[in-house]
Amino acid sequence: NNDELLEQLRLKLSRETWKSWLSTSKILDIKKNEVIIGLGNIFLKEAVEKKFGKVIKDTLSDILKRDVSVSFTDIKIDNSKKINKGPMIKTRPLKLSEFNTEFVFESFVVGHSNRMAYYSAQEVAQSPGKFNPLFIYGDVGLGKTHLLHAIANHMLEHSPDLRVKYLTAEDFMNEMMKAIRSKDMDNFREKFRKSVDVFLIDDVQFLIGKNSVQTELFHTFNSLFNSGKQVVICSDRTPEELATFHPRLISRFEMGLVVNIEEPDAGTRYLIAKKMAHMISLQLSDDVAHYLAEHVDRNLRRMRGAIMNLMLHTKITGKPANMETARKIVDSIIRMNDEKRKYNSKEAFETIKINTLVNSVLQEYDIERKELYSSSRKKKISEARQILAYMLKIYGKMNVKDISKMLKRNHSTISQSIKKIDQSLVLGNKLIKSKLDNIKNKMEQEKTDM
Ligand code: ADP
Ligand code: MG
Repeated sequence: NNDELLEQLRLKLSRETWKSWLSTSKILDIKKNEVIIGLGNIFLKEAVEKKFGKVIKDTLSDILKRDVSVSFTDIKIDNSKKINKGPMIKTRPLKLSEFNTEFVFESFVVGHSNRMAYYSAQEVAQSPGKFNPLFIYGDVGLGKTHLLHAIANHMLEHSPDLRVKYLTAEDFMNEMMKAIRSKDMDNFREKFRKSVDVFLIDDVQFLIGKNSVQTELFHTFNSLFNSGKQVVICSDRTPEELATFHPRLISRFEMGLVVNIEEPDAGTRYLIAKKMAHMISLQLSDDVAHYLAEHVDRNLRRMRGAIMNLMLHTKITGKPANMETARKIVDSIIRMNDEKRKYNSKEAFETIKINTLVNSVLQEYDIERKELYSSSRKKKISEARQILAYMLKIYGKMNVKDISKMLKRNHSTISQSIKKIDQSLVLGNKLIKSKLDNIKNKMEQEKTDM
């Protein structure tokens, strides 16, 4: 019986081999002089054939007490999920990060706006080390994260021995903080510098103003580069626009290949809408796809939202979406985004983030809120004010005009303050730097307490 034979085969092979390569296998047919084995996906088939074909043939011949040949075939699993959770990926022992299985090269539409980024990413996935580092920048929702995951997914399938690490700069910072708190930096460094072959770091703009994390990242990069490991960095700004980044780090970023993703044109957006629908087996008529391409602009997350909505609609009504539905959905998405934007900038952003920042500064300097806004020129208070202005600019992304309103100072006083702190940092003023780090830690603390 097929299952019994498979079980006997399993017992004859090493556990590691089984787990990594054959856990998805099935014996499909036992013929007189041939055994047919099905495997979870086509890439697995090639590798298993090459690596274990002979061993499996010999073992099976042994068990069956007759000379059999072995052939492998890929089991057609549910087609809509063909790139999802291939069992091989699931059991791969070297997997260091979670990857979105929908973000693969095959599901990425190549157009004028992203061609360079796409091909560089593909090149990196196929020959790691060739363009090192690769730095991809572009606005939110244009496919950067998609490409990073595509690199990872490609490598998992084609170079299963590579240890691929993906994380956002924020994750990196959080892990570092955790390591510092538990006095475990050795382990942290070992983990990032020694146990990674491909390092994919997303949204590095998050580290603007976070100097100590930048320094750590710089050393991580150096160590990886020096041992020939591939690094890919994504950011919503160009290296130059990361102006407050440590110059050493910026020149590292610029050392390899820097590519840009631009906004897709309407034609590409049309194809993306079609592709996204195709990926979830949604039928999308040409006129609806055109409508989406014309009306859902720039941020492709919205396009994805629209497609998911259409999918839901189709499921519920049992009818393919027509133009009227498409219009409604697009309208509601646009409206929702307008409201979210309002909410983000005013309520959530200003009250939570800015408040946390102000509180942290007050705590660090041990002063009262009203002193901050007072006309006092006491050194402690004016320094606190300067640091706050600086941080509101860098972290709060507020402009000088709003900061001066908030702190009740004039425009030039505020820009002077910001410049002064910036200079102190550049000149390596330890006191200011430690104040800044303390405040940042306090903010982090509050964030995790929330
Ligand atoms: P970013 O990281 O640049 O903010 P994402 O990679 O998260 O953007 O992309 C947002 C959404 O748009 C994702 O669902 C992604 O799959 C999709 N997307 C972006 N660019 C493309 C493309 N060229 N083809 C297909 N889908 C895309
Ligand atoms: Mg992203």
